[in-house]
Amino acid sequence: MTEPKATDIAAVKARLLEMKAELERLAHEHEHDSDIVELDQTTQGRLSRMDALQGQAMAQEVARRREVEIRRIEAALERIEDDEYGYCVTCGEEIARKRLELDPATPNCIDCARGEET
Ligand SMILES: [Zn+2]
Repeated sequence: MTEPKATDIAAVKARLLEMKAELERLAHEHEHDSDIVELDQTTQGRLSRMDALQGQAMAQEVARRREVEIRRIEAALERIEDDEYGYCVTCGEEIARKRLELDPATPNCIDCARGEET
């Protein structure tokens, strides 16, 4: 039983690293999207300034979510290193395989995840 599990973990790890690399690539690509909007009032009207501020707020939110996701993936990678991957960080129960396949970075079993939402 140890052999297939070791292979699984290697595959999961590769997938997590891939997800992280992609998020970091996106973060790098969009790193200036949320820069402070500094508009020249003489060339930009009030409306376009509001548009720019709105776009900036959206970009910040996207960047923030990306950060959260990267941290989740890093935490999952740490759990792999600690040999704790696949177990719920809250209750210690095994996380359903299907759930991990859908979201390899998930730290909680379905029960605990549901508990958090309500
Ligand atoms: Zn749990």
